[in-house]
Amino acid sequence: MRKHIAVIPGDGIGPDIVREAVEVLEKVASVYGHEFDFEYLLAGGASIDEYGVPLTDDTLERAKSADSVLLGAVGGPKWDGLEGKMRPEKALLSLRSGLGMFCNLRPALMYGALKEASPLKADIIGDGLDIMIVRELTGGIYFGEKTLAADSSWASDLMKYSTFEIERIARKAFEAARKRRGKVTSVDKANVLETSRLWRKTVTRVAKDYPDVELNHMYVDNASMQLVRNPGQFDVIVTENMFGDILSDEASMITGSIGMLSSASLGSGKCGMYEPIHGSAPDIAGKDIANPIATILSSALMLRYSFDLDKEARAIEDATLGVINDGWRTFDIAQKGENYVGTAEMGRLIRERIV
Ligand code: NAD
Repeated sequence: MRKHIAVIPGDGIGPDIVREAVEVLEKVASVYGHEFDFEYLLAGGASIDEYGVPLTDDTLERAKSADSVLLGAVGGPKWDGLEGKMRPEKALLSLRSGLGMFCNLRPALMYGALKEASPLKADIIGDGLDIMIVRELTGGIYFGEKTLAADSSWASDLMKYSTFEIERIARKAFEAARKRRGKVTSVDKANVLETSRLWRKTVTRVAKDYPDVELNHMYVDNASMQLVRNPGQFDVIVTENMFGDILSDEASMITGSIGMLSSASLGSGKCGMYEPIHGSAPDIAGKDIANPIATILSSALMLRYSFDLDKEARAIEDATLGVINDGWRTFDIAQKGENYVGTAEMGRLIRERIV
């Protein structure tokens, strides 16, 4: 298979961690007989320095014409004084909206060997956690009409969803479940909200097209409790924008390690944008100590969700698990007595296991 990948290293630790992920993809290409070519683009602070704006039209066009986008992270103290639309983070929003990405996939993945890092008790975690949150990204209350009374005595935010928006995100969730353990939990507040009742009805209808996937519904207040009480019951959680924002942060925290968590943003086609959930970590930039695993696992998501290369995605995930199980750790996940390695060495250890 031949694919063209836009690579946006960004700022801070971005270039270090993206380098490792690209080398992992190169290793996969050589082992499995694929051809990936990489086009490097600037966004965020790096683009401000070079072109004076966080994202140029040309960069967006190039990202759009790629088969997929791999992103590090953007931002840093150097650009903190800039006003809203000139800030590095604006590049992310422009990329997501420019690429039409309405679906955010956030795996909360924790290996059993790292369970000391979780704030949850070991018996709740069991052998590890593997939950996928599918969050609707471009609708709901964040995008509804906003009103503030002239005298500031009241304000409102409109929550609105169309069946079209619900149906397309539901399909992403059912398709993700098919690549995983075949279970979808749809989270809403259908006992109170009209949008949630439409959500529930629509998801139930879409489920008929996926008879091999099990569907259950849960209220959002119960879901937030179940995530810490019995997280092992979840496979894929699909939910609207605001509930997803909150639940995905909760789910990522229970895994305990920000340097390990990947994410994907998807639109209606196969192109996706893949990135770690953490930021540019300027405090550790250029020191060869950042954990590259979140970005490497993001590249595995790219193979699975944009290129349908499931075997190759699993090879990256298994290699990462093997390295962790052998006790290799970057500083952010290290406990006493474990083998401490830097960014480049962690990348090399993972690549070495892809054979
Ligand atoms: P951050 O995620 O960059 O860092 C938070 C803490 O986690 C820091 O102590 C950092 O050293 C550590 N950390 C993060 N990633 C790590 C990794 N891979 N390995 C080891 N340790 C890691 O969040 P922040 O400090 O709030 O933000 C720093 C900059 O990043 C800001 O400019 C912010 O706007 C930007 N940011 C960008 C994105 C993005 O590009 N998607 C997301 C969040 C924050």
